[in-house]
Amino acid sequence: MALKKGEEYIASLKSLGLEANVMGKREQDLPEHPLISPSVRAVAATFDCAHRDETRSLFRTCSSLNGEEINRFTHLHQSAEDLVKKVMMQRHCGNLTGCCFQRCVGLDAANAVFSVTYECDQEHGTNYHPRFRKYWSRIQQEDLVVDGAMTDPKGDRAKRPKDQSDPDLFLRVVERKRDGVVVRGAKLHQTGMVNSHEMIVMPTTNLTLEEKDWAICFALPTNTRGVKYIYGRQASDTRKLEGLGSFDAGNPTFGGQEVMAVFEDVFVPEERIFLNGEVGLSGRLVERFAAYHRQSYGGCKVGVGDVLIGATALIARMNGVEHAFHIRDKIVEMIHLNETMFACGIACSALGHPTKAGNYEVDLLLANVCKLNVTRFPFELARLATDIAGGLIGTLPSSKEMEDPVTEPYIKKYLAAAQGVAVVDRIKVLRLIENLVAGAGAVAYLIESMHGAGSPMAQRIMIGRQGEIEAKINRVKGLLNIS
Ligand SMILES: Cc1cc2nc3c(=O)[nH]c(=O)nc-3n(C[C@H](O)[C@H](O)[C@H](O)COP(=O)(O)OP(=O)(O)OC[C@H]3O[C@@H](n4cnc5c(N)ncnc54)[C@H](O)[C@@H]3O)c2cc1C
Repeated sequence: MALKKGEEYIASLKSLGLEANVMGKREQDLPEHPLISPSVRAVAATFDCAHRDETRSLFRTCSSLNGEEINRFTHLHQSAEDLVKKVMMQRHCGNLTGCCFQRCVGLDAANAVFSVTYECDQEHGTNYHPRFRKYWSRIQQEDLVVDGAMTDPKGDRAKRPKDQSDPDLFLRVVERKRDGVVVRGAKLHQTGMVNSHEMIVMPTTNLTLEEKDWAICFALPTNTRGVKYIYGRQASDTRKLEGLGSFDAGNPTFGGQEVMAVFEDVFVPEERIFLNGEVGLSGRLVERFAAYHRQSYGGCKVGVGDVLIGATALIARMNGVEHAFHIRDKIVEMIHLNETMFACGIACSALGHPTKAGNYEVDLLLANVCKLNVTRFPFELARLATDIAGGLIGTLPSSKEMEDPVTEPYIKKYLAAAQGVAVVDRIKVLRLIENLVAGAGAVAYLIESMHGAGSPMAQRIMIGRQGEIEAKINRVKGLLNIS
């Protein structure tokens, strides 16, 4: 059935029986694990939004593959308006969860694979595109979560995949069978992979003719035999183990997560392979996935930015400084930076164009400008929030001190600020700011803003390529009548 509710998603996730190594232990029933459950709730929110009156029209759309009503998180964009709505939906999810809700990476992978398989079939006579249509139609109908897995470990960055001392440092085909291939390698930093039903695995870089074994794109269920998950740590993550009564985690309900996924000689059946040795297409796939994902950050990071701005304005009020000129001006600056990222996300969507396969692609130059801004502006927002919040975001006592009869009166007396503000509320807001600028939330808000969808240099290279510098020079020559 399409359009699951959050609780149905969680039940379906549990039925997969995924296991992972988490802090030195082999863990089962991952959705119930206190380190992981906040991230499951964040994904569940993407399902519930399709059922709430105020968001259902934004989160629901019609499938181009089967005509059914589907969740927009599984949609193949059919217009520039669809691309704009994607960014607005992501901003809403960021507002709602204050963290990474993990579901856009698979959406971005699907839209890239859809058009690249079409072009591959045209150029090489393969039949990947109808195969992918069939695969993705099922994802839409069952409303599944799909992880997008691109990033290889990459070993020595100065060497190509074929020149690494260990060829597995880029995921590759190690055996070809009549009915599929066997792959070995790993994908790092996988957002929400253990909260997903499926994964789409893609090559991480452009490849040469001698690197056919690395030119492999495929999909697998996340509970495939031989795929192993090693959970990623986040700053202050063990605060999530302290239980719901504690507000030290900062974000009381939601959180993000990443894993290292290891592929130990995993069989991929033929019908799940979407690229296999066509090296010329791998660079195109990387570029296209990256462009969609760079657009995504113009929505999701902006949504989290709204939460940080709100928390900063609230703490200023609680501290009694909200009317000070420099505070108001700094909050205006935060809004300006946040809306600039949003403007880029909307602009690259509004100028989107159809691919040969018929789905819509973002404007490449503007998507890269969007992400390059995202590598900087959240850091400035975090700096301004830290300035306004004061030093307590780094030195607050534990919430346990509020339960201790000896310390509680001191905390209430000496952490009091503006008249009428409950000390416990002030502490909660400070903890949320701490979470986003220096705690578990900073993984998505700051570190992912820097490196997710590619480190800044990757965007600068694309901007250099797309910036039409010769056309600009010719414009000047025309203006000045220079031959
Ligand atoms: C929170 C988070 C979530 C993520 N989620 C996902 C996900 O869901 N799926 C996914 O596939 N990936 C994901 N990523 C991975 C992300 O795309 C990579 O982190 C990014 O591409 C950078 O790769 P890297 O981390 O290996 O850093 P590196 O590639 O090592 O880059 C580090 C620095 O070295 C420079 N550098 C690298 N290679 C060279 C070179 N050859 N020459 C000169 N300079 C070089 C870079 O420009 C950068 O400045 C995520 C990352 C983070 C942090």
